[in-house]
Amino acid sequence: MSFSTDVKEELLNSIPHDRHCRVSELAAILAFAGKREGGSIRVRPTTETQTAIRKCFTLLNKTFNINTDVFKKDIDKNKTYIDFDSSTPGMDKVLDSIAHEAPLYLLTNDCCKRAYLRGAFISAGFINDPLKAYHLEFVCMDKAMGEMLKELLYDFDIETKMVARKKYYVVYVKDADTIQDILNVIDAHKALMELVNARIVKDVRNSINRQNNCLVANSEKAVKAGSRQLDDIILIRDTEGLEVLPKNLREIAELRLEYPGDSLAELGGLLDPPVGKSGINHRLRKISEYAERIRAVKGD
Ligand SMILES: [Zn+2]
Repeated sequence: MSFSTDVKEELLNSIPHDRHCRVSELAAILAFAGKREGGSIRVRPTTETQTAIRKCFTLLNKTFNINTDVFKKDIDKNKTYIDFDSSTPGMDKVLDSIAHEAPLYLLTNDCCKRAYLRGAFISAGFINDPLKAYHLEFVCMDKAMGEMLKELLYDFDIETKMVARKKYYVVYVKDADTIQDILNVIDAHKALMELVNARIVKDVRNSINRQNNCLVANSEKAVKAGSRQLDDIILIRDTEGLEVLPKNLREIAELRLEYPGDSLAELGGLLDPPVGKSGINHRLRKISEYAERIRAVKGD
């Protein structure tokens, strides 16, 4: 199952306590999953709408005591539709409520706005697996619906973008913080936890990568420094001979030639008595200065 389906499954099980919220969620489901056809609302059962349809039946049952799970089916051009219309007993009241009560609730109640956004997500929402990408969207039938959705989200300080895609208008967000806010508003708490975990996993992964890059850079730096030291020592050996160096410099020059890959600390450990890293560094700098003088004389 996709992450998106998991989130919808989670939302399927959260039934609002208050009637006003239930009416609002139902209004959103029918508005976003269905299409108005005269006096009825027509929903096409597809993989995308199946969760919405299930939630719709649950809400109809719990709010309006309508117990059927089969509405008038209309076979049209080999396509099956479920028609929610007033020929089903009690359905006229439902259609009336979602047309008149829901907009009123949406103007006044935050709880109902949340419920409405939840219904919209169940019907028209999509969210990427946060381990792969941060993306959440609502696919709206027209621009007006998209703008209404944007405004509802804005009431919770959530800013979204909208883009036209084929014949739809898509309201979307692409950053983890905003996705987190939306999941919170629609009460998708399990999904929210998963998003938070994914962010931690990604952060750890990134910092390991950063550390690795840093290690590589450091060892490249060490190799470069090591080969410059070798160049200096070889230059001195081949021009004036290592004997011209003071004893403490000569012994480290000989060790470097013998162990070109060793770190400064390792080289220092080979001396008797051992010399620390900064001591070795100091001696190698002196050798380098000596080599520079030879280069200057030679005119290199
Ligand atoms: Zn409410």
